[in-house]
Amino acid sequence: MENKKVVIITGAGRGIGAATAKLFAHNGYAICINYKSQSGPAELLAKEISALGVKCITVKADVSNENDVNRLFSTVDTELGTLTVLVNNAGILKPQSRLIDMTAARINEILINNVTSYFLCSREAVKRMSTTTGGSGGVIVNVSSGAAKSGSPNEYIDYAASKGAIDTLTRGLSLEVASEGIRVNCVRPGFIYTDMHADGGEPGRIKRLESKIPLGRGGQSDEVAEAIYWLAAEKSSFSTGNFLDLAGGL
Ligand code: NAP
Repeated sequence: MENKKVVIITGAGRGIGAATAKLFAHNGYAICINYKSQSGPAELLAKEISALGVKCITVKADVSNENDVNRLFSTVDTELGTLTVLVNNAGILKPQSRLIDMTAARINEILINNVTSYFLCSREAVKRMSTTTGGSGGVIVNVSSGAAKSGSPNEYIDYAASKGAIDTLTRGLSLEVASEGIRVNCVRPGFIYTDMHADGGEPGRIKRLESKIPLGRGGQSDEVAEAIYWLAAEKSSFSTGNFLDLAGGL
C-alpha cells in the first residue's frame, strides 16, 4: 500500500515509542521504527505493523551520533518518501543518584542521548520539511518529561535537566520554524509503566509512588501515544510550541 504520510519515531522498539508506532500505523502512516541496540523487539513490532497493510521499516541508529542520524533520515528518504512527522522519543535514564555522586561521564552520556539526539534529528527533519527549502511542512513532537518541572531531586537531576532542555528546544524551534510550515509540540509524561524504570535501578518505582499521583495510578504507553498523535495530527493544526502533561495530575 502507498502511504502519503511518513513518520520517524526514535527509540521505538519498546515502551512509549512502540505504542506510538502502532497508533500512527493504525492511522495509515508509513512507519520508520528507529532503535539503538535491541533488534528483536523492533523487528517483531515491524512485523505486527506491516500486517496492518502499511509500509514499515526498522533502522538501527544511535541518534546521539551524527553519522547515524544522517543515515537514518536518508534511508527514510529512499525507502518511505517525504517525511511528514518526526517523534523525538529516544531517551535514557541512569541509576538513581544524588548529584554529589555523579561523574562527568554519566552527565555527558545523559545529555548526548537525551538532548543532542533531539537537536540532530530535528535539524534533519527541518531540512526536509521547511517550505523555504522546497519542503511541504510537517510536525515535530518531542517527548520530554514531568521531570523537567519536578527536577527529580535525589533520583536523577541530570535526566530532569536534559528534559528541561527539550522544553526549551520545543519553544525555541517552534518559533524559529513557525513561518516555514512546521509545527513543534511536546508531551511531558510522568510515571508511565515501561522498562525505563528498571534502567533507573527501581523497576517497581511507579507502584511505590502511586499514592502520590492524584489519579491514583501510573500511566500506560498508549495514553502517551494518543497525546503524541493528536499533537502531530491535523486536528491540532493551530497548536505549536505547546505542551501536554500526562502525569496523572502532577
Ligand atoms: P524505554 O522503554 O526505556 O525505551 C526507550 C527506547 O529508547 C529504548 O528502546 C532504546 O533503544 C531507545 N534509545 C535510547 N537511546 C537511544 C539512542 N541514542 N538512539 C536510538 N534509540 C535510543 O523508555 P520509555 O519509558 O518508553 O521512554 C520513552 C521516552 O519517554 C523517553 O524520552 C523518556 O525519557 C520519556 N519519558 C518516560 C517516562 C516513563 O515514566 N516511562 C516518563 C517521562 C518521560 P534500545 O532498546 O534499542 O537501546
